[in-house]
Amino acid sequence: MEYHDSEKANEVAGRVEDFLEEVVLPREREALATGERITMDEIEGFWEEAKERDLFAPQVPEEYGGQGLDFSDMLPSFEQVGRSLIGALAIRANAPQEGNMHTLEMVGTEEQKEEYLRPLVQGEISSAFAMTEPKQGGGSDPKMLQSTAVKDGDEWVINAHKWWTSDGLDADFYLTMVRTDLDAHPYSGTSIILVPADADGVDVVRNIPHVGGHGITEREGGHAEVKFDDVRVPVENTIGEENDGFQIAQMRLGGGRLTHCMRYSGMAERSLDVAKAYLSEREAFGTTLEEKQALRHRIADAETRLHAARCMVRHAARELDRSDARIEVAMAKLFTANVTQDTIDLALQCCGGNGIGKDLPIAHFYENVRAFRIVDGADEVHRRSIARWAFEDVDETEIENALQFDEGLRIDALDE
Ligand SMILES: Cc1cc2nc3c(=O)[nH]c(=O)nc-3n(C[C@H](O)[C@H](O)[C@H](O)COP(=O)(O)OP(=O)(O)OC[C@H]3O[C@@H](n4cnc5c(N)ncnc54)[C@H](O)[C@@H]3O)c2cc1C
Repeated sequence: MEYHDSEKANEVAGRVEDFLEEVVLPREREALATGERITMDEIEGFWEEAKERDLFAPQVPEEYGGQGLDFSDMLPSFEQVGRSLIGALAIRANAPQEGNMHTLEMVGTEEQKEEYLRPLVQGEISSAFAMTEPKQGGGSDPKMLQSTAVKDGDEWVINAHKWWTSDGLDADFYLTMVRTDLDAHPYSGTSIILVPADADGVDVVRNIPHVGGHGITEREGGHAEVKFDDVRVPVENTIGEENDGFQIAQMRLGGGRLTHCMRYSGMAERSLDVAKAYLSEREAFGTTLEEKQALRHRIADAETRLHAARCMVRHAARELDRSDARIEVAMAKLFTANVTQDTIDLALQCCGGNGIGKDLPIAHFYENVRAFRIVDGADEVHRRSIARWAFEDVDETEIENALQFDEGLRIDALDE
């Protein structure tokens, strides 16, 4: 499918594809076949190779070691890396690192960028974003946030209980969302504070057991439960303006949702490619499976919906390069999460037992994609935002016309 992405976007994506075909996918296939995990040394080797090929961290400005692409131009490269279980990691465009880099780049001070962003891009350190809380804390409704930071002289004293903190097991710092003005509405009384993992009082409680594992690498990452007990950090560790946490999180999540859509679209496309290859080879009941109309129609529907999702993501990316594009991103995220889940499920079904087996990447994708309808806003939360927008500008004249029309109908009916 030709999307007429910009010349630059296509040029970089072409080189990303070569890198995947020549370096990453052969290693991925080997790891799937042997069950042997890819080591951190190997991943660092991918980073070096990606740097030599000018593909490293497409989303990061060149001055910090990336390729300086905007959302529209990074899109086809992110779709490409989504095709591999380790593609995004191999060019350092994986979540949540990529979103945290974006946050520091947008609102970090020069000192924070030097101390944290530069080494984060290079992979010398790792990060996590800690917003969600257990029990009656912040989740779908982030206004329920309960974690706090109180100023004591030139320090914040942080008490927080977070969970589902992705990559939280081996993070070197947490971008932690906490209430900093308890008298204000959470939207205007919350801040994001950078907490080094080795600060006194930080306790990584556990990796929350979850669907899917850490895939085919040795990397820990995980989705952690983390407690912050009277943790003291300098006030300068505030990210962006004090009490602007919600506005900053919104900026982070807008981009993060869309880059997730890009990677998951690639994942769904690869799953379909694998399934189509299987169907065209495998014979049953006198023909190849490719010839069964029941399957052909379902593949046609999956191709159509995936194409629609990729168009929506492109539109949202263009808008996000110009504005906050909240509704466009919400629609793209809601639609893509469902389409990619359905597509990967169909691909798995088409491959029979091989779909469940882990010689192929589909089973890993299947485990991975389910969370996409929950992370970065569950389906229902996005529907809520879209519906609010849909009813925002209800036209009074349209209501009157509709009511008169109804009345007219009733009168006509009585006349008869
Ligand atoms: C794999 C994974 C990784 C994650 N990574 C991170 C991370 O790095 N950092 C972080 O801070 N958080 C992270 N999260 C947390 C994630 O953002 C939350 O799980 C999500 O926002 C939902 O919050 P909750 O789990 O508290 O669900 P709840 O708020 O308890 O909601 C439960 C369900 O209720 C439904 N629902 C909610 N609101 C409505 C409504 N208005 N109308 C109808 N139905 C509704 C939805 O189906 C929702 O799934 C991660 C989660 C997962 C699973």
